[in-house]
Amino acid sequence: MKILLVESSKTVSSLLTIELEKFVHVDVDWVDSLQAAKDHIKQNTDSPYALAISCMSLSDARDWEAISLLSSHNIPTIIFSSAFNEKQRDEFLKNPIIVDYVVKESRVGLRYLCNMVHRLLKNREIKAMVVDDASAIRTHVGSLLRQYQFQVLEAENGQQALDILQDNRDIKLIISDYTMAPVDGFEMTKTIRETYEKEELAIIGLSGVDSATLSARFIKVGANDFITKPFQPEEFFCRITQTVDLIEKTQALVDAATRDFLTGLYNRRFFFENGEGKLNRARREGTNIALAMLDIDHFKSVNDTYGHDVGDEVLKGVSKLLVECTRDHDLVARMGGEEFCILLNDITKNELSELLEALRKTIEQKQYASLEDRKNVTSSFGVVYAQAGENLDDLVKRADKLLYRSKETGRNKVTVED
Ligand code: GH3
Ligand code: MG
Ligand code: MG
Repeated sequence: MKILLVESSKTVSSLLTIELEKFVHVDVDWVDSLQAAKDHIKQNTDSPYALAISCMSLSDARDWEAISLLSSHNIPTIIFSSAFNEKQRDEFLKNPIIVDYVVKESRVGLRYLCNMVHRLLKNREIKAMVVDDASAIRTHVGSLLRQYQFQVLEAENGQQALDILQDNRDIKLIISDYTMAPVDGFEMTKTIRETYEKEELAIIGLSGVDSATLSARFIKVGANDFITKPFQPEEFFCRITQTVDLIEKTQALVDAATRDFLTGLYNRRFFFENGEGKLNRARREGTNIALAMLDIDHFKSVNDTYGHDVGDEVLKGVSKLLVECTRDHDLVARMGGEEFCILLNDITKNELSELLEALRKTIEQKQYASLEDRKNVTSSFGVVYAQAGENLDDLVKRADKLLYRSKETGRNKVTVED
């Protein structure tokens, strides 16, 4: 991802480029004239700039020209101005493509700008939903969220929001009104909190000034925060940003404790903690549960021949396939080294064999350029169904035995218990 920096001062642009590349890990193209900006935009039509930062004065342009150019190419823009001019600022911010107006006053301005860029680039990957029965408010909040680069969904009431959430489980932020039928904002929030923690999905309540107790009640039923209507866009953005930053930081902590650093899969500890619960739930609900254990074949020779880095690349590649070839609710974990487990519930023997056979083939067919003449890796599987009274540890041990049988009888195969 790249951003365009339109800035006449070399000093400011080098400072900013250093900060952006260091803290936001984004590539910056710097131009110091309108003409150069035009040329760069033209050269980058295949992968357009995700964002622009633009100053107001360029030697070959009048005040508005650079901003007009960026708007006409739909490039979200942050204005980086040397002086604060309230009237000008208000005028600019009416344009939905202008995201913010930052004054070059000190390092604080620079840091603020970097945080802003970081947030906007991240927001592009975040789904946000606005829930309100008043279409004017829905449109207004929706366009503010779009201005901040979120992917926006809209619902007219709590029930519609719950339905949309069913199909979009990756929604991270909901901005919701209170009074709506058939399901109001409180009921919706309560229902969502049965499944999603505050740290997984943030809910921000919208409340009118006429009801003083509404905001506190919103928080009590599970909202992360609230905003009182009417609000200034800046207040709205500050609240949203704070909330999203917070859930992101919390998620990073949770990931560090539960996921494997190299592959991003769940780690062994999480597998045992979460898997035991899944096993118990399946028993209560009377559904079956299966465990597949797999191990990459002759992986030591990959490391020995091509080096540890290539080994790591293969581990990441196989991990990605494991996630892609399994169902959303299957639990996939790296148990250690080149050994993985998948816990699958509610699956018939035929479906199970089909899924794992397809996975085995996909792993075998994936080619790695760095494996040179060898090209691919294969893997062996051991698969068992949970029996009455058996815990996860027992299950893993039995799967491991069958995995060993796959290895002994030629590798690159799936052995399912009889
Ligand atoms: P088999 O077909 O019997 O499974 O043989 P194998 O070579 O795959 O099994 P072995 O257990 O002998 O070797 C596993 C290797 O995995 C040894 C170890 O160095 C390597 N390994 C473990 N963790 C990592 C890792 O995080 N990165 C890399 N690159 N290698 C790893
Ligand atoms: Mg192995
Ligand atoms: Mg092994």
